[in-house]
Amino acid sequence: MENLNNVEQTIAVQSQDTCQLLNTFKDKMTLSLKVCAHCTLCAESCFMFMKNNKDPHYMPSYKFINSIGVIYKKKGNLKRNDLEKMKDIVWKHCVLCTRCYCPIGIDIPSMISTARSYCRAQGVYPEFDEIY
Ligand code: SF4
Ligand code: SF4
Repeated sequence: MENLNNVEQTIAVQSQDTCQLLNTFKDKMTLSLKVCAHCTLCAESCFMFMKNNKDPHYMPSYKFINSIGVIYKKKGNLKRNDLEKMKDIVWKHCVLCTRCYCPIGIDIPSMISTARSYCRAQGVYPEFDEIY
């Protein structure tokens, strides 16, 4: 059973629905990923970052670059365990409160939300008691 689980974890994920999802937001997402200056100015507007001792893994920019950024970089050709790794980033480390501020106008919550939609469409999502 363990071997079967390991195999499932490395199976590539992709479906027509998720391709469509990526195409719908492609222009907005690729532009946002391209223009992010990695300045970290968004960090202190995120209470999750502040609450977690300014751990860089909670920075808004880290969260979207390592979720939707990876999805677009790999053109949706991900393995299930890639998505499992994103689960904490997009659900546990972000509550989509929309408070993060980017001076150049990157809509960080919508990027993280799109990553959630992508994961959910592939059947990867946390159980309620995994989040809190
Ligand atoms: S999202 Fe905006 S504020 Fe955050 S690092 Fe990128 S450019 Fe800077
Ligand atoms: S939407 Fe997410 S990244 Fe933005 S401030 Fe809220 S918890 Fe932080």
